[in-house]
Amino acid sequence: MEVVDFLHEPKKYAAIGAKLPKGVLLVGPPGTGKTLLAKAVAGEAGVPFFSISGSEFVEMFVGMGAAKVRDLFKQANEKAPCIVFIDEIDAIGQKRNTGSMGGNDEREQTLNQLLAEMDGFDGQKGVVLLAATNRPESLDPALLRPGRFDRRVPVELPDLQGRQAILEVHARDIKLEPGIDWGIIARATAGASGAELANIVNEAALRAVREGRKAVSQSDLEESVETVIAGAQRKNAVVSDKEKKIVAYHEIGHALVAAMQSHSAPVTKITIVPRTSGALGYTMQVDEGERMLMSRREILNKIATFTGGRAAEELIFGEDNITTGASNDIEQATKLARAMITRYGMSDEFDMVALETVQNQYLGGDASLACAADTATKIDSQVVETVKTAHEKARKILQENKPKLHELAAYLLEKETITGEEFMQILEH
Ligand code: ZN
Repeated sequence: MEVVDFLHEPKKYAAIGAKLPKGVLLVGPPGTGKTLLAKAVAGEAGVPFFSISGSEFVEMFVGMGAAKVRDLFKQANEKAPCIVFIDEIDAIGQKRNTGSMGGNDEREQTLNQLLAEMDGFDGQKGVVLLAATNRPESLDPALLRPGRFDRRVPVELPDLQGRQAILEVHARDIKLEPGIDWGIIARATAGASGAELANIVNEAALRAVREGRKAVSQSDLEESVETVIAGAQRKNAVVSDKEKKIVAYHEIGHALVAAMQSHSAPVTKITIVPRTSGALGYTMQVDEGERMLMSRREILNKIATFTGGRAAEELIFGEDNITTGASNDIEQATKLARAMITRYGMSDEFDMVALETVQNQYLGGDASLACAADTATKIDSQVVETVKTAHEKARKILQENKPKLHELAAYLLEKETITGEEFMQILEH
């Protein structure tokens, strides 16, 4: 809004002596619409829009990158007021090598030229530079100094309200059956980016066409959420009766452990229809509302829920017959347990000491240990302890509710897909 207003009425700002930021950095994970936002600013302000990707600069011959930067700014100056947008600025804006050896001369030349141009152009003239990145921590500090990209706009993954609004925008050109409840779809897609939400709406439309209907229904949308998250249904996949039974107990194990800890419906849907992603079963968990904070208890409950699938297999089929089906659960549970100790300060032994640093906040969030080898060994044994305790808790819950486990698994086996309400009805009667 500020940039748009400035481009409309630069005199208002000049009169008071205010300088608008020359550069605005849009920071956020992939697929959140940073490019769209930049275009929207240009469109809203009614000024020309110059767009280039950072990688285009580096792919060129030596010396060409810098020349292209000069060229870009020359054009922009002629067309001012205007907006220059550099996508993936990290491709040229990476931290320069401080050592004398190595480094990418071409990239550094390009970056130096960019810095020189930014310092050179007149802030009152109405050239606003926008840039996008999902790796802000890798940028050269010189780029972020005042007078350069000193304004940072986070473009985060959409929240519940945002997701609903985005879904409705993408549904504008789609024929819908009356009475679509977008709230349900928005709640089931926590963590999805704008691009993924667009994909969900499109998948639903494709499904309606496939089935020879003229409009998209609620169930098309719900099915396409699963398609995008878990892969399409594999109706003709051959799964033996024995495997089906194991999957049913495994999935009910997760759901039952979750339900007994929270005393509320923890899932919206459980299914044992195999998906093309390779998953044989799948429990769709939905957090009520958007959670920014998680308590220690909630994390421990979550870890126990992850172990619930394997715990059910052990209880019903015996220790020797446990399967590889829990590999993803194991990964998730371990990640959470480790984070509790190294990042959230939730262990007695290490108190509030950071033992890990997160590298790429927006790209998976890889963490690297920042502690002595001795400490790392202790962390490992605490992670094992945490997961073990949660696993035992899950086993105990299932043991105490074994009749319900049998009843629910049999019901799921017969129906193949059950809703959260059906699950709770059986659990509570
Ligand atoms: Zn599982």
